[in-house]
Amino acid sequence: MVYSPMQFQHGLSLVQFIERYGTEDQCARALFKARWPKGFECPDCGCRSHCLLDARRLYQCNTCHRQTSVTAGTIFQHTHLPLQKWFLAMHLLTQGKHGLSALELKRQIGVSYETAWKVKHKLMQVMLEREKGRILSERVEADDAYMGGEHHGGKRGRGAPGKAPMLAAVQTSSEEDPSERKVVYLKVQAVPNFKGRTIRRWAKRSLAKTSTVLTDGMRSFNAIGEVVEDHQPMVMEGGWRNSRHPAFKWVNTILGNLKGNILGVCRWISAKHLPRYLAEFQWRFNRRFDLEVILNRLLRAAVLTPPMPQRLLVLAEKGR
Ligand SMILES: [Zn+2]
Repeated sequence: MVYSPMQFQHGLSLVQFIERYGTEDQCARALFKARWPKGFECPDCGCRSHCLLDARRLYQCNTCHRQTSVTAGTIFQHTHLPLQKWFLAMHLLTQGKHGLSALELKRQIGVSYETAWKVKHKLMQVMLEREKGRILSERVEADDAYMGGEHHGGKRGRGAPGKAPMLAAVQTSSEEDPSERKVVYLKVQAVPNFKGRTIRRWAKRSLAKTSTVLTDGMRSFNAIGEVVEDHQPMVMEGGWRNSRHPAFKWVNTILGNLKGNILGVCRWISAKHLPRYLAEFQWRFNRRFDLEVILNRLLRAAVLTPPMPQRLLVLAEKGR
């Protein structure tokens, strides 16, 4: 058996989790520390001097007298759920190798399905906000792909109905031998189509100017060449479409895992929520070596993410 340092790394065990975040008080303190690492700071006037109105867990600024809670202005705003349940949800969503469905989350944290769905989607939104600015550099393999749609029957491949188009790119190290290359970061994003204009916009937001980007010969990928200094379209014998080429080993392996992972958790994903599912996979993938601190990372990102009311959660997010 091949020893994989990633698979054998220590995560945060459930026992450690309970020791650190087993009570409401511990969770509140962890949240406070994540939000105000240097101590309380009034969101209005920046004053540090404050008093705690204990009964309602409100912090009152001594200068402007504004009252604020540790959850106000964060993704946890207006939550009626005990923090313990939020923390357990964050732990479960970050420690497992595969994602967790809302149904499983409902059972694990003991809430209604609707609540579990909202918790999961708010946390996925945190991951999306955190990852949307990610830029890949150096050697990058990029490819187009579709999510879902296989169940609808009919034609496969580019342009088949019922499939959500997406663009995936993987930054790898640059060894000559493809099997020695290591994957560094992943970026995967739902897009409205594969037109040149769309690809140009995606490339601007995803690729460093100095990167070397390998794609297959799909014509609209030429737009990447307008954004990065070195675009290498691989036009191969037997047609322009040959993503089995070793140059695309990693982007294809990871796309396979991503589809299996997301569709294994959810049989069917509505296109408007797809960006969040992709972001969840991407966020976890890009932190796969950090299992011990991954919960802290999510917590820190969560307090930096503005509230996401239900209304916004269900709105379409096409083209992000
Ligand atoms: Zn103040």
